[in-house]
Amino acid sequence: MKIIIGKTAGFCYGVERAVKGAKAELNNKDKKIYCLGEIVHNREVIKDLENRGIEVIEDISQVKEKNSKTIIRAHGIPKEIYDKCEESKIEYVDYTCPKVLNIHKIAEEYSKKGYYIILVGASKHPENIGTISYCGKYYSIIEQVEDCQKAIEDVKKSKKDKCLVIAQTTYHLGKFAQIEKILKENLSEGIDLKIKNTICQATQIRQEETEDIAKKVQYMIIIGGKNSSNTKKLYEIASKNCKNTICIETKDEINLDDLKNIESVGIMAGASTPQESIDEVQELISSNI
Ligand code: SF4
Repeated sequence: MKIIIGKTAGFCYGVERAVKGAKAELNNKDKKIYCLGEIVHNREVIKDLENRGIEVIEDISQVKEKNSKTIIRAHGIPKEIYDKCEESKIEYVDYTCPKVLNIHKIAEEYSKKGYYIILVGASKHPENIGTISYCGKYYSIIEQVEDCQKAIEDVKKSKKDKCLVIAQTTYHLGKFAQIEKILKENLSEGIDLKIKNTICQATQIRQEETEDIAKKVQYMIIIGGKNSSNTKKLYEIASKNCKNTICIETKDEINLDDLKNIESVGIMAGASTPQESIDEVQELISSNI
């Protein structure tokens, strides 16, 4: 059986940086280490960090220990949380991915210049909750192509003559292109429309590679956390191009019987999937063919 593993499978730069940073913080034995939210959307990674002593908290008010440091994860946090940390003198270390910080900067800059902001992405995703805090009063979220019309009406109602469009770093490339087209067709007249494709390049390359591999194989395995949005998108892309596609968190979810008459398998993993999970899947398949 031929096995193709995506070159871009696994930790992206931002996740690698945050996870390495979190582990390094644990060297400081005198301080309690908190992590505000799950550092990445992957249970295996979280379990490992918790076993090493990190306490994951959901709210900054849960920081009880004075002699402590709080890790800000790669997805970033809303502006108000930074303010709370300063007010309550909570020591923190910021591992927000620089690409996410750049989106915050763009949103804040354009909001101050009077632009209406359209953010393309999932409204409840932590990254976007952070970004929204930099968008000011005038903004809309487009989660899916169907939401375009409502956003277009909202921009028109606001009477703003400037509009900026940005995207969640892990948004689906193809859908963003569709949304961009609709917005250009409907918001160009009398409005200074600026579109910045802020989808992370690592995401773009990974999505392209997923499509490419899925087209070549009979069976496709996507590895990643069930709550990882970039993993879900890889699954969507792979399913469209390979009818036998599964999405798993660990090797235990693979049913080897499904691979009996299969001659080629593709393996791809989301940005929060550790290398060990990818290796385990590969080993399981290789040792059973
Ligand atoms: S996907 Fe891109 S933006 Fe998101 S953490 Fe990774 S490198 Fe940063």
